[in-house]
Amino acid sequence: MSVEKVVIIGSGPAGLTAAIYAARANLSPLVFEGYNAGGLVPGGQLMFTTDVENFPGFEHGILGPKLMTAMRAQAERFGTRFIREDVVSVDFSRSPFKIRSDEAAADAHAVIIATGARANWLNLPNEQRLAKTGGGVSACAVCDGALPAFRNQELVVIGGGDSAVEEASYLTKFASVVHVVHRRDQLRASKIMQERFHKLVEHGKIKPVWNSVVTDVIGESSIEAVELKDTNSGAIRRLACKGLFLAIGHTPNTELFKGVLGTDERGYLKLSRPGSTYTSVEGVFAAGDVADHVYRQAVTAAGTGCMAALDAERWLAARGIE
Ligand SMILES: Cc1cc2nc3c(=O)[nH]c(=O)nc-3n(C[C@H](O)[C@H](O)[C@H](O)COP(=O)(O)OP(=O)(O)OC[C@H]3O[C@@H](n4cnc5c(N)ncnc54)[C@H](O)[C@@H]3O)c2cc1C
Repeated sequence: MSVEKVVIIGSGPAGLTAAIYAARANLSPLVFEGYNAGGLVPGGQLMFTTDVENFPGFEHGILGPKLMTAMRAQAERFGTRFIREDVVSVDFSRSPFKIRSDEAAADAHAVIIATGARANWLNLPNEQRLAKTGGGVSACAVCDGALPAFRNQELVVIGGGDSAVEEASYLTKFASVVHVVHRRDQLRASKIMQERFHKLVEHGKIKPVWNSVVTDVIGESSIEAVELKDTNSGAIRRLACKGLFLAIGHTPNTELFKGVLGTDERGYLKLSRPGSTYTSVEGVFAAGDVADHVYRQAVTAAGTGCMAALDAERWLAARGIE
């Protein structure tokens, strides 16, 4: 088997941007674009959304699947090869590295990991239906909060950690009021975020809904209300709203790399050099949401995909591989 210069695992914005850069640098990258690992599909998370309004270059926005199809075609035009399978095992213990899917295998001098992360959902049938059809259910306030449908409306955020406070305070810019539903009677967010939260409560922009869980999402083509269950009394009630934002965490797709690459306490890949894409194994680079629990945007994933390809190219060149 000939040794690939660079293998890329994942085909979201990070993996495909890395492929475009690596292909244009004559590294003829091979991309394992995934099949259904982590509940994702080739093209990544944006395949599950409608309008993407904040990716630069599209004045009137672009549909997520359309953006990803264009990125893939751009990578292919420069000579990227694709395998539509999930990687099931890697061996990074010696060079060349070994990457395997069910039907294929590759040896590689360098590897870029861009396997992304997945938002945690409640997995209620109506929640999933309305999330997939742009019906006002989202797991990303920064992506969707500014949409006209949410302006001056009552919105609901579910969660009690830092990201729930972050998302809720972002939404206060647009909403008439943001109801924050949490299963306990206090937040588990950091002290500074709790202070921010309580200030917004004092100003009437956020209304906490303590000791409650969402048990159903009501609405045909768009959300009209959430059904809430009181965790103490078991009482059920409805809360009218025009948007529901989940902020109950993300799960990085790093199961494959457990014990192989350094991860942080949440399971995200750890970068060994600040401001780079180097992981704990020389020659293995990481880009996008798989190594980023902070920004989690298509444009930041694409940006770090570019960085990973440049890091890999320079790392290979230093070893005489061009
Ligand atoms: C519903 C929704 C709407 C969003 N809207 C916006 C928006 O409007 N604007 C914005 O900037 N961001 C948005 N985001 C966030 C954005 O989609 C992510 O930040 C971005 O997709 C991350 O890109 P990524 O390349 O790191 O990973 P992902 O997009 O998560 O892609 C990961 C890739 O890895 C593959 N993969 C996983 N495991 C394996 C494996 N074992 N083998 C091979 N392949 C594997 C998957 O198939 C997939 O191709 C949204 C997210 C969601 C869920």
